[in-house]
Amino acid sequence: MRLFINLIFVFLLFNSVSAQDISIIPKPVHLIKREGNFIITTNTPIVISNDADIKTAEFLNSYLKKNYGFELPVKREDVKNSILINTKPSNTGKDAYIFESGPEGISITGATYPGTFYGMQTLIQLLPLQTSSSLKIPSVRIEDEPRFAYRGMLLDVGRYFFPVEFVKKCIDYTALHKMNYFHWHLTDDPGWRIEIKKYPNLTNVGAWRNKTNIFQFTDSTAGSEHYGGYYTQEEIKDIVQYAKDRYITVIPEIEMPAHSLSALVSYPEIGCTGGPYAMPEKWDTYKEIFCAGNEKTFEFIENVLDEVIELFSSPYIHIGGDECPKDRWKACPKCQARIKNENLKDEHELQSYFIRRVEKYLNGKGKTLIGWDEILEGGLAPNAVVMSWRGESGGIAAGKDKHMVIMTPSEYCYLDYPQKENEENVQDWMRLLTLEKVYSYEPVPKELNEEESRYVLGGQANVWTEFISNPARAEYMMFPRFTALAEVLWSPKGERNLNDFTECLKTQFKRYDLWRANYCRIFLDSTSSE
Ligand SMILES: [Zn+2]
Repeated sequence: MRLFINLIFVFLLFNSVSAQDISIIPKPVHLIKREGNFIITTNTPIVISNDADIKTAEFLNSYLKKNYGFELPVKREDVKNSILINTKPSNTGKDAYIFESGPEGISITGATYPGTFYGMQTLIQLLPLQTSSSLKIPSVRIEDEPRFAYRGMLLDVGRYFFPVEFVKKCIDYTALHKMNYFHWHLTDDPGWRIEIKKYPNLTNVGAWRNKTNIFQFTDSTAGSEHYGGYYTQEEIKDIVQYAKDRYITVIPEIEMPAHSLSALVSYPEIGCTGGPYAMPEKWDTYKEIFCAGNEKTFEFIENVLDEVIELFSSPYIHIGGDECPKDRWKACPKCQARIKNENLKDEHELQSYFIRRVEKYLNGKGKTLIGWDEILEGGLAPNAVVMSWRGESGGIAAGKDKHMVIMTPSEYCYLDYPQKENEENVQDWMRLLTLEKVYSYEPVPKELNEEESRYVLGGQANVWTEFISNPARAEYMMFPRFTALAEVLWSPKGERNLNDFTECLKTQFKRYDLWRANYCRIFLDSTSSE
């Protein structure tokens, strides 16, 4: 009887330790727990077989240095009791990896270099949360691969400017969640944030406004009379490389033909009325947009895109294309002449003409155009990728039309929406977007058949910043919902389970603490803290 009780005790102890130690988000495809542990000490070497895997080794070392205060030696020759990183390229096309840990060491084998990097993120999630120079890793075997090829985060820096250090933090958060695209919303009505050498006014004029807080919401940073900022080309190159080292592609977004007031203030001749224009000082949908009848507009856009293409290695360039009021085009002689000369039916077809023309230019430079789902109106550009944000309908239409689509419907993916009742800075048009709702999202719309569903590249969490003016607030709105969407985009549909996820979140909250990241303590207590 005594032996039986002891066995029960050992069994409970083993299981409670396992449950506590193994908390991997996104949930892996296959995970087998084994007995025993491996201890990482300051002398444990990281062994790499391919030069390119050095990036993955460096990521682990930078994570350890930042959060645990030490780094590990990196070696080329295989030795025992090591962390062996080995990419063995396969042609499956998936960024898969196999992770094994046991008393003798750890091995991470990726089918691609990103796959190996994702295996390293799994190791990071197996590290104990207590800072120590001796880290106990439970024994497991994991086989894992992403469900979707596109797993993204959008950061809007047009409404509020976020410093380089925070942009890099967001790229790290993206990497730590095994996500691979960072969509950088660089231009909008209240701010142009990317240095363009040929057009210095864009950042001398268009990056600045006379009010910090133009939307009159609660914000302790409000008050400055001259607000703004931009990224120099050198800073952008640095950020693009930083992301590349983490197997993340940075997609720049340059908004057109609408959301372009900051460009028109800088260069009034490319607007329909010719100005004068003023930087926004209140919330509105601005009627001032690029003139589609003026050749100078296209010259400007092509010159801007030339510099953008030089800076970003991304195969995709996002050109916005959303929320375009047609008032100015209706009244503009140049725009009306274009409609007549190009045999266009109306202003919607003029928008389609605009986007097709820009797409042709980008395709000629070897780039693929992405636009918000409004680019479907008036006829879709032939090779464009659609980002479906006004619900799923844009995604369904694109999929049926055999166009690649990235799903980011606002009711599931807009992290500026409140995550609980009585949130600050909530507007009437914002719907409640709870953690559970994000987690329940299924990126393949049921309206698409198996063939059509192949056009769904993946999905994205969008951090719009009309009402988010500083990094702490951005993190609070991101976490934990961004973590939930990471699992939606990575883990097999049938394996997702809200109870398992919320259990893992308890550990994830401690990780946020370790990262000194702000987050909404939803599920931990009934009152929020910020
Ligand atoms: Zn015009």
